[in-house]
Amino acid sequence: MDRYSLSPDLGLGGRLTIDLSALATNYRHIAARTSPSRAAAVVKADAYGLGAERVAPMLAAMGCRDFFVAHLAEAIPLLPLLPPDARLFILNGLAPGTEQLCADAGAIPVLNAPDQAARWRALAAQRGVRLPAAVQVDSGMSRLGLTADEAAALAASPDFAAHVDPVLVMSHLACADTPDHGANAAQHRAFTALADRFPGVPRALANSGGAFLPSGFHGDLVRPGIALYGGAPFDGDNPMRAVVSLDARVIQTRTVAPGTGVGYGLSFTALSQTRLATIAVGYADGLPRALGNRGAAWFKGVRLPIAGRVSMDSISLDISALPEGALQPGDWVELIGPHQSLDRLAADAGTISYEILTSLGSRYERHYLDAAGAGLEAA
Ligand SMILES: *Cc1c(COP(=O)(O)O)cnc(C)c1O
Repeated sequence: MDRYSLSPDLGLGGRLTIDLSALATNYRHIAARTSPSRAAAVVKADAYGLGAERVAPMLAAMGCRDFFVAHLAEAIPLLPLLPPDARLFILNGLAPGTEQLCADAGAIPVLNAPDQAARWRALAAQRGVRLPAAVQVDSGMSRLGLTADEAAALAASPDFAAHVDPVLVMSHLACADTPDHGANAAQHRAFTALADRFPGVPRALANSGGAFLPSGFHGDLVRPGIALYGGAPFDGDNPMRAVVSLDARVIQTRTVAPGTGVGYGLSFTALSQTRLATIAVGYADGLPRALGNRGAAWFKGVRLPIAGRVSMDSISLDISALPEGALQPGDWVELIGPHQSLDRLAADAGTISYEILTSLGSRYERHYLDAAGAGLEAA
């Protein structure tokens, strides 16, 4: 692919290229690794910023039938794009007052607390139907889910059983990205004991990191998110294919004399005569201010350090390492791509791939590389 010759040029400062065929490869990789467990897809936060309306139908076409978002409002536009036999779960649970909407939409709430279970059961009783739900138990992360006592009470409730069909019992690992962490085995033990309260109900414990833990962690369904989108699922060499590339447009170059300050606060001072390029992306495009004087862009294999602070709409680069005149206004530099991974950029910003992806926002030309590998398509 040549992402430098994409059209149309909309005059924006950055180009986000999303390789759907790499995403498909990542899904296949996880599905094969965790088989015979089913591989779901977590598409919350607009598929981590990459476009849930593109990602979810593509994965559905590949056979994925289980999807997760955080909020009901994320589910409603997505459901019509999925096959009728697909299931879309609401991770953050059943918000008070949304019961009717959730049932009418056909979304499946993750019941995280007794009041959620009670409200879902009440709606089912009122409608004279049995409604599906996932039940989340807290296996040690202390974030969402029923306590052991609450899970026991729910499992023993004939009223709940009469009106709610628990299609999944789930929990979430706090340390799955650190395979050797003792909390993984402890959570697995706790989850198994809690899930045993719901005999015959399929189990789901593993996120991306969990999918790379031993098969005992995979249960009946795995819930990968970041690994589908090319982020490293655990500390160490990343087995996933890169999905996202990010390039920024050069809008001005200049040469400054020794002692010249650069950017807000003049936090960078040129020690010698220095050539600079200004690129047209900034923190409003999801590039963290923490990259100031730390991160870099790349051009033709040369690292170009960020000089000074990240502005809202622009960043200055020290391009002195390039031959004079090599970089011109209108050229594109790489922020995420073959020379600088998503995880590298995130580390330079003191954050994680998840936060970078979900921050990128809408101020880019977006290009989707077709899953069929048939070429480029502008969104
Ligand atoms: C976000 C989320 C996932 C996906 O996690 P990744 O680390 O991105 O794979 C899975 N399960 C739950 C409950 C989540 O909140």
